Amino acid sequence: MQLATLELKGFKSFGDKVTIRFDRGITGIVGPNGCGKSNVVDAIRWVLGEQKSRMLRSDKMENIIFNGTKKRKATQLAEVSLTFDNTRNLLPTEYTQVTITRRYYRSGDSEYLLNGVPCRLKDIISLFMDTGIASNSYAIIELKMVDDILNDKDGSRRALFEEAAGISKFRIRKKETLRNLSATDDDLDRVED
Ligand code: ATP
Repeated sequence: MQLATLELKGFKSFGDKVTIRFDRGITGIVGPNGCGKSNVVDAIRWVLGEQKSRMLRSDKMENIIFNGTKKRKATQLAEVSLTFDNTRNLLPTEYTQVTITRRYYRSGDSEYLLNGVPCRLKDIISLFMDTGIASNSYAIIELKMVDDILNDKDGSRRALFEEAAGISKFRIRKKETLRNLSATDDDLDRVED
């Protein structure tokens, strides 16, 4: 599975639509301080469902929307799309190209789309589960995370190995199943009542 393109529009410093292509090999993004290099990484983390604005280096989610310049008006919407080449069918879908899109409006409304069709964040998360691609996975490693992994902060090293070993989905399913069992226990108690 190969990352193909990233499209940003109205996200942080990207007022105009910008498309970044990831061709074979390594893609490097260079530029002067403050030009928006880290914003590209934030965009990838965000489109994959990041909910904590702190992880995007913003105090609140609204601040990820382009807030204009002296000469340009702020935009009302931030939109990021990430496209993967799925010719090796690593993603469990028949599509050979998979595009996920996230939109966020100043009103606070937000939308997720999978190949242009509205969906839930849950659908995106399950599609990418155990591929190593998620807003908090090792696919995106920033400098601070390297320190956390080396110091094993909050068991971060274990989480990394579990994701790589492909067992996180079972952990999540176990949690869901235990929740369902507990709800069933409550129902049984009501029957006894
Ligand atoms: P460095 O090399 O110093 O780490 P960088 O290239 O990684 O810098 P970023 O941190 O990605 O730069 O971008 C910072 C820039 O993004 C700042 O100029 C900031 O004003 C701008 N920026 C952040 N949020 C917004 C927003 N909502 N609207 C417009 N510009 C924004």
